[in-house]
Amino acid sequence: MPRTEPIKAARGVRDILPDAIPLRRRTEGIAAEVAQRYGYQEIVTPVIEQRELIDRVGEDTDAVAKELYRLEKRGSQNLALRPEATAGVVRAYFEGGLTKGPQPSRLYLIGPMFRHDKPQKGRYREFYQFNVEVIGGSSAGFDAEVIELARDWLTGAGLDDLRLELNSIGDDRCRPTYLERLKEYYAPLRTELSADSQVRLERNPLRLLDSKLPHEQAFKERAPKISEHLCPECAAHWDAVRRLLDSAGIEYVHNPYLVRGLDYYTRTVFEFYPGGATGQQDALASGGRYDGLAAAEGWPSTPGVGFAGGIDRVVDQLAARPAEVAMKPAAEVLVVPDGDASLAAAEVARICRRVRSTAVDYEVRSFAAKMRLAGNLGARWVVIMRPAQATQRVARLREIATGAESEVGWDELPARLGG
Ligand code: AMP
Repeated sequence: MPRTEPIKAARGVRDILPDAIPLRRRTEGIAAEVAQRYGYQEIVTPVIEQRELIDRVGEDTDAVAKELYRLEKRGSQNLALRPEATAGVVRAYFEGGLTKGPQPSRLYLIGPMFRHDKPQKGRYREFYQFNVEVIGGSSAGFDAEVIELARDWLTGAGLDDLRLELNSIGDDRCRPTYLERLKEYYAPLRTELSADSQVRLERNPLRLLDSKLPHEQAFKERAPKISEHLCPECAAHWDAVRRLLDSAGIEYVHNPYLVRGLDYYTRTVFEFYPGGATGQQDALASGGRYDGLAAAEGWPSTPGVGFAGGIDRVVDQLAARPAEVAMKPAAEVLVVPDGDASLAAAEVARICRRVRSTAVDYEVRSFAAKMRLAGNLGARWVVIMRPAQATQRVARLREIATGAESEVGWDELPARLGG
């Protein structure tokens, strides 16, 4: 065998090690609990989707155009790993007949998404989202509801200092005229734009407002604002969403440059950022209305609104704080055979497991080393099992914190361990 380097994880993906699990599970648990409190039901959709579904709904986004993981063709289908969940959830809503149930459908999903993004903190190639969708509801009440739900999740998880940015990007009645104005405005500036922005001017002028390039900021500031060019219906919806947020006591900042580059996005767009410093942090949750998405997928036109929250980013924020969640020990009881008592230790462990999580230290090492390990493991009790005692079905029980030790019959152990 040739010598090789040990094989490491793929770039941009992470193992979630046991230490990091409690905070992550808590963050996901709060997501599910908040969603259920608002009357949302869980849905699970496949990580693999037909590439056409994803291409159709995302061709002009980075997540699809540049970052999609396309799978090698197997059989007749072109498949890809989902870069986001909404396209799949909307597909499942129609395909699974949820259209026949009470409308709108309120759904949530927690699961991994995949994007060949440039790896850095908060930007992973496999990451988890908490997705919330209301499908079949057009009223502004649903927009405000999902915003409030996102806020409740983030604050419930422990992030109180948040900034909510909000905008309206109109619909297919008012946006085309606005886009013409935007193009007219940018046309004379063309040669001053970056190569990327020049392409956007041709293909997707709304995304010029997404530009993060310093020299393009001044252009944006003088550009016409879509929220000032809404048709009466979109303007009424925009007013209604803001009134609802005001009455819910939810503060927001109107960001006229907050946009989505795809035609099926309509009206409300929003993003939650960590509070404090303004600037270019990454969003914790992003959402909006997508009244044109169902039709873009080939289904009957159906309105929808929702958001995607980044579980990894929320957990990263919380983990940066001291001792957010008390770590549960791997096992509360460690059974330590002292000498040749493995069989007895296994049996005692089975008895202890009725009431407490229990591990056995089968390793051949010194008794002192085993006792040190018990402390490191975070165990509360050690059950010391010696061969001579095994025949009498007794063991020594030691409480680590106090050092108190006594001889206990095996069958008394559950009661002594507080079961
Ligand atoms: P998007 O679908 O791009 O609007 O993303 C929705 C949310 O998912 C964002 O607000 C982030 O919290 C999270 N997110 C997006 N891309 C990544 C990534 N590469 N790594 C970690 N989280 C991400």
